[in-house]
Amino acid sequence: MPSWRQMASFTDVDRAGDLVIPPDAVTIDAAGATVVSGIRDNHVHPVFGDFTPRQNTVGWIDACLHGGVTTMYSAGEPHLPGRPSDPTGVKVLAILAHRSFAKARLSGVKVHAGAVLLEQGLVEADFDDLAAAGCRLVGEAGISGITNPADAARMVRWAQARGMKVMVHTGGASIPGISVIGPDFVAEVRPDITGHVNGGSTSLSLSDVARILDESDACVKIVHNGNITMLGKIVGIVHELGELDRLVAGTDCPAGSGVQPLGMLRVMASAASLGGIDCPTAMAIATGNVAQLHDDPNGRIPSERRQTCSSWTRRSGHRRTQPWPPSRSPTPSPLPSLLSRVGWLSPKAGTRRRLPEISGGLTRPP
Ligand SMILES: [Zn+2]
Repeated sequence: MPSWRQMASFTDVDRAGDLVIPPDAVTIDAAGATVVSGIRDNHVHPVFGDFTPRQNTVGWIDACLHGGVTTMYSAGEPHLPGRPSDPTGVKVLAILAHRSFAKARLSGVKVHAGAVLLEQGLVEADFDDLAAAGCRLVGEAGISGITNPADAARMVRWAQARGMKVMVHTGGASIPGISVIGPDFVAEVRPDITGHVNGGSTSLSLSDVARILDESDACVKIVHNGNITMLGKIVGIVHELGELDRLVAGTDCPAGSGVQPLGMLRVMASAASLGGIDCPTAMAIATGNVAQLHDDPNGRIPSERRQTCSSWTRRSGHRRTQPWPPSRSPTPSPLPSLLSRVGWLSPKAGTRRRLPEISGGLTRPP
C-alpha cells in the first residue's frame, strides 16, 4: 500500500517525454479514473491525535482519508475537555495543537490545527506569540468568549496583520450561551471565511448569504453538518452571482452530529445535484478553492501538466505514454476538458450582480 507521500509525488510527473521513473516508483493502474488533488476539508474540530472526545471516536481522521480527504483545517479545538478560556490557556492550547499535528501526520493526513478561539483578555502581543509559534488560523469567532463584533474585529485585525486566516461562525447558536450570527457581524468583523452559511446547524437565509457576498470579501463555506436543502440553494445563488471562486467546502466534524468519513464527498455531490454546478466545479470548491484561500500552491492539477498524466498498468510493469484520451477508449473521453477545469475558480470580473429578490431560507428572530 503506497504511503500518502508516495501518492502525492505521483502528481509531480513532467512532460511525458522527459518523465524520469525512479527505481522505487509505485505503479498504479488508474483504470481510466480522473486524477484530482486530495480533498481539503475546510472545517474540522480536532483535539489531539486521531481521537475526538466529542464522540469518543478513535480513528476519525483515518476514516476521512478513506473518503479522499488529505488535508484538514481546524475551525478551533473547542471539544477539549476542560478547554481553558483564559488568554494564556487559549494561546497555549492553540500552540500545542499546532505543534502536535505538525509533528504527527496521522495516516498521512495533513491537519492544520491550532486555531485560537478568541477570548477576553487576549492582547496584540499574544498574536505575535501565536504567529511566531507557527499558528496560522483563528477558529470560529462567535463561539467563544468574544461575542461583541467590535471586540472581535479588533482581535481579527491583529491576527490578519500577522497572516492568520480568520473564520466566523454564522447561523444559529450551536453551543449554549452564544447568539445568532449573521451578515452584520460578518460585515463588522471582516473575516477571511464565513463559516457554514448553510447552517451549523441552522442556516442563514439566502438574503443573508447574498449580503455577505455583496458587503464583504470573505469566502462562504458550505458544510455537511448543515441544512442540505439550503446548501443547494446557496450554491445556486453563489453561482448566479458569479462568486464561485469564493465558495469553499467542509464537514464541520467531529461535532454533535457525529463524524462523517465520506462527508466531503456528500457535500460535493449535494452541491452538484442540488446546486446546479457541474462536477469539476464541485471538486474545485473542495480542493483548489480551499488551497487558494490558505495561500497554498497545492490543491490543483496544473493545466499545463494535465496532458502528461500517464496511464500505468500492472500487467506489463511499463508506463504507457498514451495521450488523453487513451486510445483504448471506444469514444473520446471528456477527461481533458474536465481536468482543465478542476482546481480553482478564477474570479469572473464584471459578473457580480445582486439578485433583484431572494427568498427562502429560515428567518431568524430579531
Ligand atoms: Zn460553528
